[in-house]
Amino acid sequence: MIKWKDKREFWITGAKLADPEAGKIKSGSVLIQKGRISELAWQGAVQSDLPQLDIGGLVLSPGFIDIHTHLREPGYEEKETIETGTAAAAAGGYTAVVCMANTEPVVDDPSIVKFILEKSAQVSHCRVYITAALTRNLEGVHINEYHLLREAGAVALSDDGKFVVDSRVMRSALEYARIYNLPVIAHCEDTFLTAGALMNESYSSTRLGLKGTPAAAEEIAVARDVRLAELTGSRLHVAHVSTAGAVELIKKAKRKGVPVTAEASPHHLTLDDTMLETYDRNLKVNPPLRDKKDIEALRSGLREGTIDCIATDHAPHTEIDKQVEFDFAPPGIMGLETAFAQLNTELVDGVEFSLVDLIRLLTIKPAQTLSLPGGKLARGEPADLVLIDPDEEWVLEKAALRSKSSNTPLLGKKFRGRVQGVFLEGKWESAIL
Ligand SMILES: [Zn+2]
Repeated sequence: MIKWKDKREFWITGAKLADPEAGKIKSGSVLIQKGRISELAWQGAVQSDLPQLDIGGLVLSPGFIDIHTHLREPGYEEKETIETGTAAAAAGGYTAVVCMANTEPVVDDPSIVKFILEKSAQVSHCRVYITAALTRNLEGVHINEYHLLREAGAVALSDDGKFVVDSRVMRSALEYARIYNLPVIAHCEDTFLTAGALMNESYSSTRLGLKGTPAAAEEIAVARDVRLAELTGSRLHVAHVSTAGAVELIKKAKRKGVPVTAEASPHHLTLDDTMLETYDRNLKVNPPLRDKKDIEALRSGLREGTIDCIATDHAPHTEIDKQVEFDFAPPGIMGLETAFAQLNTELVDGVEFSLVDLIRLLTIKPAQTLSLPGGKLARGEPADLVLIDPDEEWVLEKAALRSKSSNTPLLGKKFRGRVQGVFLEGKWESAIL
């Protein structure tokens, strides 16, 4: 964990303070001391001899928390590193990320957990938490030593990118994870039904001549894993939900009291399969972009709480990786640097989603989902904060990306709302100002 030696004390004044727990945005000021929020003044002028930083009416919120990030290090440093991935996170308003286990070597041994934590302490631009692998080398055969992985610092378990095909192995994994109180993040995909698939099975896939995978491939897997969570009483978190049917299954499971949570990604909430008309490889992702009805179901799932939070599934790939025929391009879309702006532009209309609703889904909700600290605007909390101009209009330029990769279909897109930078333990971490 990063320990800033910054001992500065100052007030941030002139802010619109976003409190995601209370669901309100109100004018106020924050006193930062020793890297923590030591005072909140909701209104009125601050009477203090300490320095004051007037931020001129911008929104100040707890920093965003991404519970699904691929940092790619160790093993795929040509795509992303801990340093560049966390720089991208900070640029996107994130003060914490949870990185996935499908590195090389896979995070299935405490030494890899330690390596990532130690490297992060040296180079990271935000807090880094670690998801360790459920099974040895993500092969879905032998479960890992969860107590050792937890002792080393892992906060969750997942074979993300791969479905645990053998239900007996998944049951054992859930049972053992429960003993060590680690949530299991499920990548839900019936791999027999998705074999060779390049996009969602739909009118578009027929038109484009690309092999599709039906929504049922995801729903069969969600149904099984939710049932196993019910059987074992273990905490199951469903990654990147993309279909209306999966939302329905999770809703029913929650009603029955099954300990299941779920996330949706910015791309599944905003992009649909008709956009593949361009054969843009940067739109190839797993699970694939679905249709408009699925997008609507995901959005209402978020509104009613069936989907707990938004997670990016930031999946960087090099240009060379993606500069091949559509069939051979690896699936994945970057998300850290565009999530807030994309969602603020597409979702926040003041009716279905307000700005503070979006902030809640990026802060306190992901923190609660994986039982992580942070996401709160309260006295005593670490001063991990994001500064936002919700009205700034800007265009995403490739040259401005902090990530090592640029595989996003959003280059050249005009957004409304821009992250200005983050304070990490009270230290200004990144800036466009
Ligand atoms: Zn992923």
